[in-house]
Amino acid sequence: MPAGASLTNPPSPRPQRLFFALWPDKEAARALHHAGRELQAACGGRLTRLATVHLTLVFLGEVAPEKIPRLERAAASVREEAFSINFNRYGWWKHNRIVWAMPEETPPPLRRLVQGLETALEQAGISCDKRPYVPHVTLLRKAERRPQGEGLPGAAWAAREFVLVRSVLDREGAAYEVIGRWSLREEAESQSASS
Ligand code: ATP
Ligand code: MG
Repeated sequence: MPAGASLTNPPSPRPQRLFFALWPDKEAARALHHAGRELQAACGGRLTRLATVHLTLVFLGEVAPEKIPRLERAAASVREEAFSINFNRYGWWKHNRIVWAMPEETPPPLRRLVQGLETALEQAGISCDKRPYVPHVTLLRKAERRPQGEGLPGAAWAAREFVLVRSVLDREGAAYEVIGRWSLREEAESQSASS
């Protein structure tokens, strides 16, 4: 046993880097990945891998593992309806050299889902990133030039569930592991819930 450790007070497990996200179905992931590849030809940079294409909802950062059950209960309390998003805008942020896809309009259920999660987390005493929400899918990192023109097709994405993801950073970038998932309400369910 290392000096200073004791059997009665074992060291607490390490914090985990967590975020809530929407994960695309295969078709949407392929369409966005394809758009990223087309943009890469003009902008350079590192293409997001097909398996890691996602839309962050709420970024939590480092979370102590003992808080995860509370986090899961907060997520389960959020009941938003399923919706679809069309990623039909492409652009970049110069300050971090990220090339992204965004929906021209943010679907109201997406905004409510993010707000619902933030409120549930706050009530559970769990802190998260508080910057105004900008829905974007990162397609390229470390882009060398801005994208030109807007000639890419949109990628439609039907969101039916949201997930909790653990991110492990290493020299290759981030590896993600889905550690929880919650369904969004389908239309028939939403109608009977509101009637
Ligand atoms: P890398 O950091 O290697 O470029 P990454 O950004 O995909 O990879 P993370 O930094 O773990 O991996 O971030 C996970 C997700 O959360 C990404 O979608 C990222 O854009 C988003 N994210 C990271 N930091 C914040 C933050 N402070 N506020 C909001 N979203 C964030
Ligand atoms: Mg990051």
